[in-house]
Amino acid sequence: MIASVDQLTGYDLIVAADGLNSLVRRSFEGDFGTSLSYSANKFAWYGTTKRFETLSQTFVKTDLGSFNAHHYRYSPDMSTFLVECDPATWQRYGFAEKTIDESKAICESVFAATLEGHSLVSNKSMWRNFPWIWNEHWSFRNMVLIGDALHSAHFSIGSGTRLAIEDAIALTKALEAERDLSAGLRQYQSERKPIVKKLVTAARTSAEWYEKFPEHMKLGLLEFAYSYITRSGRIDDARLRAMSPAFMARYETTKRPLQQSGSKP
Ligand SMILES: Cc1cc2nc3c(=O)[nH]c(=O)nc-3n(C[C@H](O)[C@H](O)[C@H](O)COP(=O)(O)OP(=O)(O)OC[C@H]3O[C@@H](n4cnc5c(N)ncnc54)[C@H](O)[C@@H]3O)c2cc1C
Repeated sequence: MIASVDQLTGYDLIVAADGLNSLVRRSFEGDFGTSLSYSANKFAWYGTTKRFETLSQTFVKTDLGSFNAHHYRYSPDMSTFLVECDPATWQRYGFAEKTIDESKAICESVFAATLEGHSLVSNKSMWRNFPWIWNEHWSFRNMVLIGDALHSAHFSIGSGTRLAIEDAIALTKALEAERDLSAGLRQYQSERKPIVKKLVTAARTSAEWYEKFPEHMKLGLLEFAYSYITRSGRIDDARLRAMSPAFMARYETTKRPLQQSGSKP
């Protein structure tokens, strides 16, 4: 365990792949141009023995507020079960005063129909706010950031691992292409940054949809589904029509009477 960057002297290159709370990044925040902000929604990350074959979502409205869960299988017999709620719901349930076990029990009861008798598995599953981490400068001196140390990716697009691995590949290629270390680090940033920025922007747009999900839940079912699918701006009507013609036909049929009744005679 590295307790101080002073332990990292005497190396040609230090690749800081030390995750969201990167010690290297925190030690030189000004030089990396680090920005950190938090989403307003609260989330708690659980596991469950209920098998979800694909990534799916459940939205639930209770007397005290609205919840959603992102669930997907990560091993033959275990799934991830991420519970999210807006700050108002979180306050009304008094989660700030609840223990981890009490919160888990509430989430199990809210999602009882989805869990079908399975329980949630906690791994220090505290309520958190998603941290948005970004760095304008990807290297400083002989230190370079990759993965979560460099940028966080919202769980609603689920690409954190892929991004981290692709960062490592891009860094290796850039260093192989340039003889000089500084030039290699510059190339890593100039080639990789626009690609990551595009994904992070899509992730932010997607996260903004979730920040308002209790509002979206007031929509009709088809409108809600349409709003969800198009949330990050990467899927437009033409693409959706090609991907899911039956869905779009139904959606457009339900929209038509609404548009007509809203138009002037
Ligand atoms: C509960 C959970 C579920 C997730 N599920 C998914 C998913 O399904 N799909 C997906 O794509 N992403 C998922 N993610 C996000 C994904 O885990 C991260 O984006 C990804 O692991 C980032 O990889 P990384 O190597 O940058 O950082 P990490 O995987 O966090 O690795 C950082 C490493 O650095 C080590 N380290 C940290 N500080 C020090 C230190 N001072 N000295 C020595 N070592 C140190 C840590 O021990 C760790 O091994 C999930 C995240 C969480 C928390």
